Amino acid sequence: MAKNMIDVDHVSIRFNLASEKVNNLKEYAIKMIRNELMFQEFMALDDINLHVKPGESWGLIGTNGSGKSTLLKTITGILKPFEGSVKIRGKIAPMIELGAGFDMELTARENIYLNGAVLGHSKEFMEEHFEEIVEFAGIRNFLDSPIKNYSSGMKARLGFAVATMVDPEILIVDEVLSVGDYQFRKKCNERMEQMLSGGTTLLYVSHDIPSVKRLCDHAMWLDHGHVIMSGPSDQVCDAYSTRQEQLFKLEKKENEIKKAHKRQYDYDYLIVGAGLFGAVFAYEAYKAGKKCLVIDRRDHIGGNIYTEDVNGINVHRYGAHIFHTKSDDIWKYIQRFAKFNNYVNSPVAVYKDEVYNLPFNMNTFSRMWGVRTPEEARKKIREQIEDLGITEPKNLEEQALSMVGTDVYEKLVKGYTQKQWGRECKDLPAFIIKRLPLRFTYDNNYFNDPHQGIPEGGYTHIVETMLEGIDLKLNCDYKEFAKNPDCTYEKIIYTGPIDEYYDYRFGRLAWRSVRFETEELDTENYQGNAVVNYTEAEVPYTRIIEHKHFEFGQQPHTVISREYPAEWKPGDEPYYPVNDEENNALYQKYAQLAEAEEKVVFGGRLGTYRYYDMDRVIEAALQTAQKELNRKILEKAEGSTEALNTDNLEA
Ligand SMILES: Cc1cc2nc3c(=O)[nH]c(=O)nc-3n(C[C@H](O)[C@H](O)[C@H](O)COP(=O)(O)OP(=O)(O)OC[C@H]3O[C@@H](n4cnc5c(N)ncnc54)[C@H](O)[C@@H]3O)c2cc1C
Repeated sequence: MAKNMIDVDHVSIRFNLASEKVNNLKEYAIKMIRNELMFQEFMALDDINLHVKPGESWGLIGTNGSGKSTLLKTITGILKPFEGSVKIRGKIAPMIELGAGFDMELTARENIYLNGAVLGHSKEFMEEHFEEIVEFAGIRNFLDSPIKNYSSGMKARLGFAVATMVDPEILIVDEVLSVGDYQFRKKCNERMEQMLSGGTTLLYVSHDIPSVKRLCDHAMWLDHGHVIMSGPSDQVCDAYSTRQEQLFKLEKKENEIKKAHKRQYDYDYLIVGAGLFGAVFAYEAYKAGKKCLVIDRRDHIGGNIYTEDVNGINVHRYGAHIFHTKSDDIWKYIQRFAKFNNYVNSPVAVYKDEVYNLPFNMNTFSRMWGVRTPEEARKKIREQIEDLGITEPKNLEEQALSMVGTDVYEKLVKGYTQKQWGRECKDLPAFIIKRLPLRFTYDNNYFNDPHQGIPEGGYTHIVETMLEGIDLKLNCDYKEFAKNPDCTYEKIIYTGPIDEYYDYRFGRLAWRSVRFETEELDTENYQGNAVVNYTEAEVPYTRIIEHKHFEFGQQPHTVISREYPAEWKPGDEPYYPVNDEENNALYQKYAQLAEAEEKVVFGGRLGTYRYYDMDRVIEAALQTAQKELNRKILEKAEGSTEALNTDNLEA
């Protein structure tokens, strides 16, 4: 049996890596004498076995630093193994560092002889093959130029030409062909294939896996000095390529993660507005592990649902707020943050010296006309509507009259609506009142919703609970903050006025405002009900709220708030959006800008220019949170929110 051309048995190569930098020989000598030279051991090859039969071609593959070139150098005798043995049987043509023996100051002609001598060829042999070498390297015109003027490709060509002059028994090629141009590489490959077909044994190192597959019938995959796989070239190359592909994907993913980490912001969300929308969103985002900063330009949290304790009475600073909802989900949700009492909103209306129950129901009709049965009440209203003969209401007055008849309109609708809008009903468009519900039962419960109540301890406590653990800045206006923020944030949830965010570039959206006059009185019970509407035009306010009745207060004193509807002007608190055609069209322009925003989400009553009851705000905030945080929060979402109408104003 023919002996192997190469036998590598249990070969290990150990390098010493200096653990500190030594700048010159003197320093090195001193450190050596002082025994201060410290090295780290590094195994470039660890117990490698390779047995190559005559005529076999082996590819060595692996990433940089895997030990391929070290193994070749060990086989060619450039490196001595630390352990194990290498046996070579045959003449080697090593193409490891082509032209490594060239003298840069000598010409190409001189170097051909010099390099030939280094490789062990006689002068006669070189003379005999000189023309062939020059022809193969393609350097005839530069033969007498010093090599230092050659490009790396020219040097490689010359080196390859000299090294392959003989037909070696063992050809060792280490990625040397990458420097040459296409033509040269083609020539080299042809020559190598010629040698292989002539029975030359090949050891070939390359990162070019297709060329390994083409030239080699065997392959060895090295990694950090260890053999990972050895065998038929196709199998080893495929396994290596698959692994590299996996590693590439893994690295790409890791890089993306690193990049995302680098881009880390102080906060995931800046939430502008500590009202109900902002607080619900912040609560959900915080729960989902997001970092949030909530800012509000007011000096308190809660936005318009803010309640403050005035001598033990929770006062609704921005108007009476009664929680009511059709949604079981929202009712359940809000009860996580407070216990609700069983307050039922049953406002009364005062017209001159008469007192009526609201909403318009049998108690109202009975008081107004002395009727007792629903049929009597219906008849009365029908007669009044028929007498008016309105077929197509031209304005709010006609619209209301055609729905409730003269008496209810004159006593309970006219003056109140006029005060709300600051204009005669005749001068208001009909669409403002879409419906004026009439109830033909003795039921004073204002809302039709199945759930209703007031949170014990006030609304502020709800928002406080929602914002627990979340960073908060009060007295902080977004525009001022954004000029010079003291932190970074990835996204904004903006619940301020949308037109203000865009610096009113299309104009200002119109609002109705309300002025509240709050008074503490030294009386135990001022009006006997939480909400009393004043429906005659001559009384300048629309309602008086006696706050203690929301929580069945027993204090010896009381606090009341008179509500004066007001024309809104820039600088005033915006309360009710004027959702007429003109303003809705203007809002749409801003909404289009908002839609194109990637880093800002608008929400809440100011951000979306719509009237929202509290339950709808919670629902909208949860929907935004669901979308943003990509998690299910509510089982089902209720319908959309309503625009301003008289019902809302009366709430
Ligand atoms: C008089 C009145 C009575 C109501 N009664 C009821 C009721 O009985 N039942 C009911 O369900 N609903 C009622 N509502 C509706 C309820 O008030 C709203 O649903 C709710 O307050 C809306 O919450 P929000 O977060 O959208 O807005 P807001 O409560 O207005 O919160 C927005 C917050 O953003 C802040 N902000 C704005 N711009 C900036 C800025 N540039 N920088 C920093 N901060 C900013 C504001 O200061 C505010 O605190 C009533 C509304 C009004 C006006």
